[in-house]
Amino acid sequence: MSENEENTSKNFIEEIIEEDLSKGKNGGVVHTRFPPEPNGYLHIGHAASICLNFGLAEAYNGMTNLRFDDTNPVKENVEYVDAIRDDVHWLGFSWGDREFYASDYFDKLYELAVALIKKGKAYVDDSTLEEIRRMRGVPTEPGEESPYRNRPVEESLNLFERMKNGEFPDGSRVLRAKVDMTSPNMQLRDPVMYRILHKEHHRTGNTWFIYPMYDWAHGQSDAIEGITHSICTLEFEVHRPLYDWYLDQIAEIDPGMVQPRPRQIEFARVNLSYTITSKRKLLELVEEGYVDGWDDPRLPTIKGIRRRGYTSNSIRYFAKKVGVAKRDKVSELSLLEYCIREDLNKSAPRVMGVLDPVRLVITNYPEDKTEQLDIENNPEDPEAGTRAVPFSRELYIEADDFMENPPSPKKFFRLGPDREVRLKGAYIIYCTGYDKDPKTGKITEIRCTYDTDSKSGEDTSGKKVKGTIHWVSKADALPVEVRIYDRLFIDADPAGHKDDYKKFLNPNSLQIIETAYVEPSLKGVKALDRFQFMRKGYYCVDPDSTEEKLVFNQTVTLKDTWAKMQDK
Ligand code: ATP
Ligand code: MG
Repeated sequence: MSENEENTSKNFIEEIIEEDLSKGKNGGVVHTRFPPEPNGYLHIGHAASICLNFGLAEAYNGMTNLRFDDTNPVKENVEYVDAIRDDVHWLGFSWGDREFYASDYFDKLYELAVALIKKGKAYVDDSTLEEIRRMRGVPTEPGEESPYRNRPVEESLNLFERMKNGEFPDGSRVLRAKVDMTSPNMQLRDPVMYRILHKEHHRTGNTWFIYPMYDWAHGQSDAIEGITHSICTLEFEVHRPLYDWYLDQIAEIDPGMVQPRPRQIEFARVNLSYTITSKRKLLELVEEGYVDGWDDPRLPTIKGIRRRGYTSNSIRYFAKKVGVAKRDKVSELSLLEYCIREDLNKSAPRVMGVLDPVRLVITNYPEDKTEQLDIENNPEDPEAGTRAVPFSRELYIEADDFMENPPSPKKFFRLGPDREVRLKGAYIIYCTGYDKDPKTGKITEIRCTYDTDSKSGEDTSGKKVKGTIHWVSKADALPVEVRIYDRLFIDADPAGHKDDYKKFLNPNSLQIIETAYVEPSLKGVKALDRFQFMRKGYYCVDPDSTEEKLVFNQTVTLKDTWAKMQDK
């Protein structure tokens, strides 16, 4: 798929759903869910999953639940629950009153587990986790049955109840499903259903001393909620036979619970180049101080992306372009950048900001004069109107818009000695001289004259100049801080280096420009307002901004369009 062409063909999940619908399965209902574990902040991969689940429900007139799979109180907490809710809303989706928690079903799951024990399909195992692991063996040879596997049902029932009542220490016993110790699929070798954990849960408090394993809770929660299509990532493919086994057992215990019976469909994780999408590694980067918190604009977390200035629109667009795949792949960061440029190009007001300022004096412009020039806010949006931008004798321009010894005028359209350019929305200027610091070689002042009859919109000078550069009036400029971000890693696939991934962090991923200047129309902007700094890129106001000092984050650069920016 090229960047400019929309993918309108059906993906394989849509095909499956349409086939189910055409067969009249589930009474024509499509019900999906997004099931995060509240043990970290969501990232761009989760965003793709959210867009997929909510998007399918929207496309087929269905519903989507937000369900927190909160089965592990050791790693979960409400901070994450709140952040996840906020992120899903920000992406533009709503789950109405369908917010659920696996912990809502702890009673029901317990009851089902008891029923499984009674059916002879589950047992309490007194082996240690180490012993269980050893007896499970390797896929190529059958495993070994636990000596507790055939203990009387009554004994398991009694022990399981006492596990629940907190009579035994952590790790002393587990409840296991009795499936098949010879299966080549390791998931089916009597998986653990419950472990003992004397740990407070963020929702159920100290009610429980045992907690269900994810595999036992997840599929059953889907069934309880009437989920028709359980969409998950590829690593769950090998778990599917176990989920099916559980549902088959439950069909005998509580047939109503598996009407409809959730159909699991796996798709490939969405990964992004030059970054990582693993909650554990993201947590390490945050906790070990490699980045400044979960919303660091360099991170691929939704919080980070948002602070960086990305719109939810652009993320949904990205998810659509990435689509769903059956095999793992890494999507290009440049695709994400393309999506945000497309969006901001239409919506972001244009302003002038000079990031690497050098002073320019227009020697024939009156010293005490300031003109208010009318400059359009967005050429892509006829409704956007114009704003007044002050122009005066002393300006700042971008240092690299001037060259002491420029190459041929065919190659360098900007300013140099005896060269002419147009100042955006203002006049044509001619460079008459400049000063340089002899020690550093830095240009300290550029002197020009302007053509009084070359004012933009009223130009009668008859001159044609190739280059147009941006500027701000020195007396009116607002000093601001600008944070420029580069890729977080220098390697396209840092996750490929396993636990060595931190060795590939980009030491220059953040550059802070302490004093840049922007035009005064930006006074009073609010956190996360977005702008195009003409010829530089897209920027948004960082929440660190104060009354005294505005801070801007660079969202993404522009493709340099200065040569094209003809302005008369
Ligand atoms: P964990 O290792 O903690 O399970 P996880 O990234 O899978 O991490 P979950 O909270 O379980 O996190 O994920 C919620 C949902 O998002 C799941 O359905 C999961 O399959 C999906 N998901 C997670 N990562 C990605 C990704 N990179 N691309 C697409 N979907 C993802
Ligand atoms: Mg997961």
